[in-house]
Amino acid sequence: MAITRFAPSPTGYLHIGGLRTSLYSYLWARKTGGEFRLRVEDTDTARNNEDAMEAIINAFEWVGLNYDGEVFYQSKRTDVYKIYIDKLLESGKAYKCYMSKDELDALRARQEAAKQSPRYDGTWRPEEGKVLPPIPEGVEPVIRIKAPTIGTIEFDDGVKGYMKFDANQVDDYVIARSNGMPTYNFVVAIDDALMGMTDVIRGDDHLSNTPKQIVIYNALGFEVPKFYHVAMINNPSGKKLSKRDGAMDVMDYKRLGYLPEALLNFLVRLGWSHGDQEIFSMEEMLELFDPTNLNKSASSFNAEKLLWLNSEYIKAVSNDRLIEELKFFDIDLSHHPKRTELLDLSKQRAQTLVEMKKSITDILDVPSFYEESGVKKFVKEDTKAFLEKYINLLEKNKDDLYDVTKVEDITKPFIAENGLKFPQLFQPIRIALTGGTQAPSVYDIIAILGFNEVSSRLETALK
Ligand code: GLU
Repeated sequence: MAITRFAPSPTGYLHIGGLRTSLYSYLWARKTGGEFRLRVEDTDTARNNEDAMEAIINAFEWVGLNYDGEVFYQSKRTDVYKIYIDKLLESGKAYKCYMSKDELDALRARQEAAKQSPRYDGTWRPEEGKVLPPIPEGVEPVIRIKAPTIGTIEFDDGVKGYMKFDANQVDDYVIARSNGMPTYNFVVAIDDALMGMTDVIRGDDHLSNTPKQIVIYNALGFEVPKFYHVAMINNPSGKKLSKRDGAMDVMDYKRLGYLPEALLNFLVRLGWSHGDQEIFSMEEMLELFDPTNLNKSASSFNAEKLLWLNSEYIKAVSNDRLIEELKFFDIDLSHHPKRTELLDLSKQRAQTLVEMKKSITDILDVPSFYEESGVKKFVKEDTKAFLEKYINLLEKNKDDLYDVTKVEDITKPFIAENGLKFPQLFQPIRIALTGGTQAPSVYDIIAILGFNEVSSRLETALK
């Protein structure tokens, strides 16, 4: 039974990278009958904002990843952290450091000059037999963890394999600032332990934090969870994914007309695979996902594939669902008598809901202008004459026009008898009915609009 979490810092919107690791955490918890928790890492008050938190929760709702229990807010847990800081101080596993900012800056400068990485030098670290400097007046101390100075810090990462860090890679870092506020790695470790995390799945940009957090687990005798550090998402040229490549707010994908299941399907495959299968329902993801199969190397964001998946999901979901989704784009077909035909037609070619909306409104809205290049190319001297003839033919059959086959059955002989080529008839009709030349099959449009609307649009165009 896996207890997992997503722990966003609410400094912006929910990014697709964050959604991907939460999806993995969610799947693993649900699959094993465990729990998926949400924890807000909002101790860095200067950079937090409430709108960001709301945006993150909305995005979770949109994709349907529900979390268990209450949301944890680190900013409300200062008292809890204080208990553990005191414990560490009492047991001698943490200590007060009175080094002033100037002294610390001077130390950094010396280390930089010697080309050493910045490290606390242990001035205030208590050791047996060591005499500490006199406590300066008026200096509020920070609290530092007494990190091991020899040996290694090791863990078996579920993705990266066995990881070993030399103890000297972790210094006696600050766990509480002079104002009493605990610091990032400390609170992450405390919360993961107290929330009972068994599995921590996160981006490998956090890998260097893990030994620091393990020092806290060990100092407090907490059980260390299993870590899975997931490789990053790159753009197709192997660089860090930027906003332009698709590293956007999850909700931007909603605005662009993606279905959440397509986005989740896309994300699950960015870093995990099961043979060469591309399409996974949520049930299949739950059945097949296993974090030990996560890829070791970075994955590449392929926008084309996301579009393809989206078009597959648009075709696969029910029309009722599409009606609901399209409402977000200000189009409500719930009571439209031709809704089934409109949806069946528009979903065939649409890669997004935005494209679907466009093809629906292209049919439903009376054109406000006619595409000039199309008119130039397809409207000839004889066009008017055969269009008039065609209107007559439609009128004779007007009660049967709701039936696409019927429209086709009367149109084909008409084309043959008049010695026309298909585009000669269809393109001017498309332009007259929709304003452009890209609309779907003319037969379908006629069957959806019916005689009155078709003849009225054709007559208008002919004027
Ligand atoms: N708050 C961190 C972030 O937003 C995640 C920390 C973690 O998963 O341990 O990147």
